[in-house]
Amino acid sequence: MLLSDKVASCLGSGSYIRKMFEEGDRLARIHGADKIFDFTIGNPSVDPPEKFREALKQLAINPIPGMHRYMSNAGYPETRTAVAEVLSEQSGLSLTADHVVMTVGAGGGLNVVLKAILNPGDEVIALSPYFVEYGFYVDNHGGVLKVVPTDEQFLPDLPAIEAAINPKTRAIIINSPNNPTGVIYSEDILTKLGQLLEKKSRELGRPIFVLSDEPYAKIVYDGAEVPSVFKFITNALMVTSHSKDLALPGERIGYIAVNPRIAGVETLVNGLIFCNRTLGFVNAPALMQRLVAGLQQETVNIAEYQEKRDVLYNHLTSLGFELIKPAGAFYLFPKSPLPDDLEFIQRALKYNILLVPGGGFGAPGYFRIAYCIDLAIIQRSLPAWTALAQDLGM
Ligand code: PLP
Repeated sequence: MLLSDKVASCLGSGSYIRKMFEEGDRLARIHGADKIFDFTIGNPSVDPPEKFREALKQLAINPIPGMHRYMSNAGYPETRTAVAEVLSEQSGLSLTADHVVMTVGAGGGLNVVLKAILNPGDEVIALSPYFVEYGFYVDNHGGVLKVVPTDEQFLPDLPAIEAAINPKTRAIIINSPNNPTGVIYSEDILTKLGQLLEKKSRELGRPIFVLSDEPYAKIVYDGAEVPSVFKFITNALMVTSHSKDLALPGERIGYIAVNPRIAGVETLVNGLIFCNRTLGFVNAPALMQRLVAGLQQETVNIAEYQEKRDVLYNHLTSLGFELIKPAGAFYLFPKSPLPDDLEFIQRALKYNILLVPGGGFGAPGYFRIAYCIDLAIIQRSLPAWTALAQDLGM
């Protein structure tokens, strides 16, 4: 008995993404890597913007004395100020460094928030389809994930959310632009969600927080904009990272920002800083904090993602796949042409197309395509999609 019962059972059930990743490896060895179309992982194939590399070079050439030491558990004041300035402009509110805690990616940030706010047995609502790690993160801190399905447009179903709220409800996680659907929540949706949560918080006598998980906020298409959650929801914490917008997932740099209008905001932030420390993160990576401070308005080339989306979306719809055109992020989430998404995934494997079943996101009957891969691979995959569709009689 090496593992706890819980971890052993999690390993036993496995992750679809991991399983498909291993399958891709196996197929690449048999057929050659260029014949495999791996759409499983949201790991950007692009490199960070030139300005990032330039800043990295400058720091290497002109190191700042002490730049590898510990700092405040919340992070460097200069970096937090740079983040706060951008968020103030977006929200029309006055955020300062005191409203920002630098974290080890968005995943680290979500764990910090959940540790800070959950009592044992508290419930956290997630809207399916959802990023599957939420369940583990909530469980890490003694909470219980309560899954509420979205509507047919993958938008929050407010009556269903209202029905799910009870005295144990502590938070709801929203993710816009969404992984896996690519939908963006409008100002109207955020307003109505904010009104509902305010009413329920008053009734229950404690705040229900919105954790707005936003790592894709800058990856948006056709001029779409992601509304500032702080403008519409008072008890909101934003959690994000530069894993996707600056293509730095391996560097583990992100932050939590809190709405300055939260009653008792200082206590909340002190709790977050304490949890950042005691979860063992201590602080976000020092070098990355210095680099991203000057890159808050930068992104990778979004037009490249839009082209990838368009090539795949146009081809799949021409073959008869049913899907919503994503407004952001870098995923497509079509309906499975077979009732059983797992069976469909297996059928796609025959054509060396690797996908993740919707069941892995709490939404069976769909599948996810991560198109953050080279355009050349996407283009090479098009005949395989055609053959798959023909095989299915589409
Ligand atoms: N939230 C969502 C919706 C994601 O898709 C991801 C990563 O894919 C994360 C959080 C975690 O991001 P990070 O790499 O910053 O921890």
